[in-house]
Amino acid sequence: MLKGPFLSKDWMGANPSYEASSWIMLGLSYDGTCSNKSGTKFAPQAIRTASFALEEYSPVFDRELCEIDFYDAGDLDLPLGNRDKSLDIIEENVKAVLDDNKKVFSIGGEHLVSLPVIKAYYNKYKDLNVIHFDAHCDLRENYLGEKLSHACVIRRVLDFLPTKNLYQIGIRSGEKSEFELMKINNTLIKSKEDKEQMLKNLQDKPVYLTVDIDVLDTSVVPGTGTQETGGMQFNELINYFREFKDKGLNIVGMDLVELSPDYDTSGASTAVAVKIAREMMLAFC
Ligand code: MN
Ligand code: MN
Repeated sequence: MLKGPFLSKDWMGANPSYEASSWIMLGLSYDGTCSNKSGTKFAPQAIRTASFALEEYSPVFDRELCEIDFYDAGDLDLPLGNRDKSLDIIEENVKAVLDDNKKVFSIGGEHLVSLPVIKAYYNKYKDLNVIHFDAHCDLRENYLGEKLSHACVIRRVLDFLPTKNLYQIGIRSGEKSEFELMKINNTLIKSKEDKEQMLKNLQDKPVYLTVDIDVLDTSVVPGTGTQETGGMQFNELINYFREFKDKGLNIVGMDLVELSPDYDTSGASTAVAVKIAREMMLAFC
């Protein structure tokens, strides 16, 4: 008889019970609209595997993963050739979790996967606000004629979310028209004053946090499909999380997207991703 012990295939520290958990981790391994190098669909599994190399304790947040009830639901099995159906499946599943009064931390996949997730959240939380970390505006009306692309994801979110409920951080790349849109609607956080105003506005509001890993500098995370230099360092991102936590922001859902393990020859980008994921959980779950 096999005796083991066997390695778990779930995220380290995960609670084995869906019912007993308040946060559900969901792998969204879709990369059908990646505009440059694809491969983000391999990220959820790579992050899960890499999680075992990391400590469960964060000295920054002075918490360990065993203090959080989160369940790793695994990856949704998406029909990759069918974009619309893939997005529908994601939205249905996130809605099901929200109907159970739980929260979702999803791991992409490309950034388009955030659209059905945020839609499901908006249907539950009508005064939802979104904080968007990214190198790119993601505000194109279309990309190569496609309205549903990772280059347009935040523009599609603005089809239902009021622009005043959107805050963008770290953006440094896009078309002129996208930068004009950010300027007209004042969505980009450019200064300390902007940040303080944002934190004030978000008091007592439900907040969804979407983190495109290319917000970090290319030297920190080369393992992503649309590398864009001039970005933040790891600790800058974590300091935002620390401030959000200190100000008591009510983060009701979050995602981490756009890691592309195939371009991560050393494994360092995946190690960064898994640590970001851990810090997000220890700060907000
Ligand atoms: Mn993006
Ligand atoms: Mn990006």
